[in-house]
Amino acid sequence: MHEMGIALEIVDIATASIPEELKGQRVARINLTVGKLAAVVPDSLRFCFDVAVKDTALEGAELVIEEVAVTARCRDCGEQWAIDGPAFSCQKCGSGQIDILSGRELDIRSIEIEEDSEAPA
Ligand SMILES: [Zn+2]
Repeated sequence: MHEMGIALEIVDIATASIPEELKGQRVARINLTVGKLAAVVPDSLRFCFDVAVKDTALEGAELVIEEVAVTARCRDCGEQWAIDGPAFSCQKCGSGQIDILSGRELDIRSIEIEEDSEAPA
């Protein structure tokens, strides 16, 4: 299970990216994008996140995970499609010369901070 390491990293990055003037405000939500090839189990990442935020500035924040499909493109015919298995050959011409365009990402998209004066976006 490598989700705990990832959760700790998210906490580190998110904590560091809160602007100085907003420190001390409650973090409502962290929006994360996870590609299906990143081999992360969303449920166990959420669980680890809840453990990792204990006693940090992020305690109580909700981790929202958006899963991104794996997209491949054929170098031979240019076909582009979403795949969900490890069968990495072109569905149109059968070529094995394909590029993975997305699916490996693990990015913090945005951090939502609870502000008293403004309605959440
Ligand atoms: Zn092809």
